[in-house]
Amino acid sequence: MTVMLRPQALTGHTRRDYRILIGGQWVDGAEGRTLERLSPAHGVVVSRYVAATKIDAERAIAAARTAFDTGPWPRMTASDRSRLLLKAADMIEARRDELALLDVLESGKPITQAKGELGGAIDIWRYAAALARDLHGESYNTLGDGTMGVVLRDPIGVVSVITPWNFPFLILSQKLPFALAAGCTAVVKPSEMTSASTLVLGEILMEAGIPTGVVNIITGTGPDAGATMTSHPDVDMISFTGSTLVGKLTMSSAAQTLKKVSLELGGKNPQIVFPDANLEEFTDAAVFGAYFNAGECCNAGSRLILHKSIADDVVARIVELSKSVKVGDPLNPDTQVGAIITPQHLGKITGYVDGATGAGANVTLGGTTLDLGMGQFMAPTVLTQVRPEMAVAREEVFGPVLSVLTFETLDEAVGIANAIDYGLSAGVWSASMDNCLQVGRRVRAGTIWMNTFMDGASELPFGGYRQSGLGRELGRHAVEDYTESKTLNMHIGPRTAWWMPR
Ligand code: NDP
Repeated sequence: MTVMLRPQALTGHTRRDYRILIGGQWVDGAEGRTLERLSPAHGVVVSRYVAATKIDAERAIAAARTAFDTGPWPRMTASDRSRLLLKAADMIEARRDELALLDVLESGKPITQAKGELGGAIDIWRYAAALARDLHGESYNTLGDGTMGVVLRDPIGVVSVITPWNFPFLILSQKLPFALAAGCTAVVKPSEMTSASTLVLGEILMEAGIPTGVVNIITGTGPDAGATMTSHPDVDMISFTGSTLVGKLTMSSAAQTLKKVSLELGGKNPQIVFPDANLEEFTDAAVFGAYFNAGECCNAGSRLILHKSIADDVVARIVELSKSVKVGDPLNPDTQVGAIITPQHLGKITGYVDGATGAGANVTLGGTTLDLGMGQFMAPTVLTQVRPEMAVAREEVFGPVLSVLTFETLDEAVGIANAIDYGLSAGVWSASMDNCLQVGRRVRAGTIWMNTFMDGASELPFGGYRQSGLGRELGRHAVEDYTESKTLNMHIGPRTAWWMPR
């Protein structure tokens, strides 16, 4: 049976109220509307936000535009920008526990995990600060006596940063420090469900000395607050993480003014396991890959593709280990799987399980919601007898649900892995370098983990093939993504006019 850690009532915690940040001022929304957020584990209101509208978005964009066109940020030395980003990183570190707690109360993720995410985010801020100083273009002194070419890297301008609810501070940190390192200004809109840590970052950036108007933060829903950020002519680029559906809307809205678009979208990530794999290590990675962040993770390893000869053994190991996963109060440091973001989303997850069983899959473990007295929780779930054409094997469930498929040949495994619309990440497990490299080359996904799963580093680019997105975040080119290239083509010496008789 699932190990359940019942949530404790949130005694002593009072609701925090927030305003929005426009042009260096904390202000109320133009229309005075607000939104409340309940803790998904405790069912009580923990935050109240401004429900920003088009007017607020336009003000925030205007502030970012002015800061870009006339302010000091794009013009200061990279060394000064870097110093301020490092200062911000230190201040984030000093408030790490507070930021982690805010993410826990709004997203339902376990506190131990949230602190780990903050650690990763702080490292990214420092990495981006270092890259700021290495941003440079190219020069060409090879174009003949009469020509020299210099390619500049210019900050692209005003960036709209739109983030989802599942990793509020971490995903923000995969975008904003790189945009700032390049010299851009930004309007940020976090998910309406998890805006608190983003707003506290606004306080930190102001205290760190990031100039007025460089970072503006508005809260509220996508259609009301976010849509203007994707269509406004004064926005030069959109950096979006979220669902593939809204990613497509974003791209089509951006097309009207031909903005640059960076999209990090959904995934349905396979783990292919050969008979010679270290099954003990794989079992741990399978359980981690499926239930981490309650499966509300674009990188979730929700699709196991097991060699037929080991499938029964592996499923038995996974079921056994899954029973020891601790589900419950995200504020308990022992909890490994917290709450599900909303009751509606929980219904979507159970709908996928019901759909799968209706289509012939077998619930080998879990499959039900968990009643822990408050909040909404889902039992770790393992589905077997899943066929590649079933919705649960092709679509993003975004819950702690593992689908098990089988294969006999490497070609078949690669075929199953590639036969979906997504291509975010994949895992391959084998003692044979040959198997790992063949799968690594042939599976069409932005990250391939070999004998590990969901590891990462600020240095390693991250992003998706096909409908998992466009562009890459992190890595040494991440700052360049927020730039335009400009060619200076310089003439040396007398120029021969083209109409002159030769
Ligand atoms: P959504 O796509 O629903 O929302 C993402 C963000 O877009 C939110 O801030 C949302 O606002 C906003 N938004 C919604 N509609 C619009 C619109 N018309 N115009 C502008 N902005 C809009 O995703 P979720 O928040 O539900 O997040 C889950 C999704 O994110 C999953 O599909 C997951 O795979 C994906 N994801 C991808 C990652 C990756 O790196 N590839 C990483 C993490 C998650 P609001 O919700 O407040 O209305």
